[in-house]
Amino acid sequence: MAAKRLPPEATGAFDTKGAVVPWTTFGIIIFHIMAVAVVIYEIPRLPEILSAKLIIVTVLSILLPIGGITWTFHRGVAHVAFKWADNKRATVMRAIGLAFGTMAFQKGPINWAYMHIVHHKFVDQVKRFFDNVGRLVKTTSLDPHSMLRYAKWSKKHQEYRPTLRGFMYAHVFCYFFRFIAPPKNGADYVEEEEKAFREAPPGEEWEARLKVRKTHWVGDLEDDRMLRFFERFYFGFVGLRILIVTLICGWDGFLIAGILGVVVIWNITFCINSVAHMWGDALESIGEKVNMKLITGRSKNVFGFIFAFIGEHRHFNHHLLASCAAHGWTWKEVDLTKYWIWLMEKLGIHTNVKWMRDKRKKFLADEAEYQRLKKLENHDDMSMAA
Ligand SMILES: [Zn+2]
Ligand SMILES: [Zn+2]
Repeated sequence: MAAKRLPPEATGAFDTKGAVVPWTTFGIIIFHIMAVAVVIYEIPRLPEILSAKLIIVTVLSILLPIGGITWTFHRGVAHVAFKWADNKRATVMRAIGLAFGTMAFQKGPINWAYMHIVHHKFVDQVKRFFDNVGRLVKTTSLDPHSMLRYAKWSKKHQEYRPTLRGFMYAHVFCYFFRFIAPPKNGADYVEEEEKAFREAPPGEEWEARLKVRKTHWVGDLEDDRMLRFFERFYFGFVGLRILIVTLICGWDGFLIAGILGVVVIWNITFCINSVAHMWGDALESIGEKVNMKLITGRSKNVFGFIFAFIGEHRHFNHHLLASCAAHGWTWKEVDLTKYWIWLMEKLGIHTNVKWMRDKRKKFLADEAEYQRLKKLENHDDMSMAA
C-alpha cells in the first residue's frame, strides 16, 4: 500500500489559504443577506418601533462584544498585555470579558488568538514566485489575511499595491477558506505532522495535521480551562446574545440588535484587517532606519474609527509594540480599552500590565532596542523553503 502523502502545503511552498470552508462561508453570506433584508424591512417601520430601550439594547449588544474581543481576546489572550490577579473578582471579570468576546461570533478565544498571532508574526509577508522570464507564476501569503495576496506592481510607487480583490480578501473573503498557519519556526516539525497525518483515521488526516501545527502556536492556551470552556460553548454564547436582545426587545430586537448587530460587529472587526492596513499614518521616518516592515507590514493609525474600534484604530502603534496594553500612546489617541485596563489594574484585577512607556521612547531612538524588542515580540526571522 502506498504511504499517505502530505499535501504540499505541509512542506515547502505553503499558503495560509486552504480549501473553502462551506459552513462558515454560508453563515457569513446568509447573515449579510439577512442584514440587508432587516434594513429594508425595518426602515419604514422605524417611526413606530424606535424607542430608547431598543437603541440602548442595540448599541450595547454591539459594543459589549467588541469590547470583550478587544479587552480579553486581543490584548489579553493573544498578546498577554496583562495578567489576571489570582482572586475571585479577577476570575469573574475574566469570565465576563470572555463571555462578551465569545458573543461577537468570531470563533472562541483560542482559535481567534491562533489566527491573530500568526497575522502579527508574518504581517503582510507575501511570497511571489516567478518563472525564468520574470513572469509572476504564483503568490502565497504567510499572513492569514494580507491584502497583498492580490496585488499589482505599481511603477509609480515601485512596490506591490493591493487590488480591490486584495482589500476584500483582507476584509472578509479570507474567512471563506480553511486557515493553514505556516509552521511556527520554519519547517522543523514536519515529521511530527506527517506522523499525525499517517496515523489519523480516514477523513481526519487534515484535522490531525492542523492540530499538531496549532499546538505549536497556541498549545499553552489550550491548557487553560476557562479558554477551553468558551471555545467549546462558542455557539451557545452566540445564541445567548441573540436570545437576550429578543427577550428584552422582542421581534424588532431580534432583527435589529440580534441579526443586523452581528453583521455590524463583524464589519467593525474586519475593518482592522482591511481599513487599518490600507489608509492612515505610519511612522515612515523610522522605517528608513530599520527594516520595520517586518513587524508592522502595511498597518496604519486610523483616526476615523475612534469609538467603534475602542482603541484598535491605532493599529500601526499596535503592530510596532504588539504586547503593549495601550494602542493609543498619547492623550490625543483615544483608546477606551487602555483606560479600562488601567482601571482594572487600579482595582487589583490586572497585574503585570505591559505599559512599555519608557521602552517605546527608547525604541524610537535606538536600533539596538528595536532588535531587542523584536526578539521580545518573538518576531524572529523565519527560514522558508521556496
Ligand atoms: Zn494587523
Ligand atoms: Zn494584535
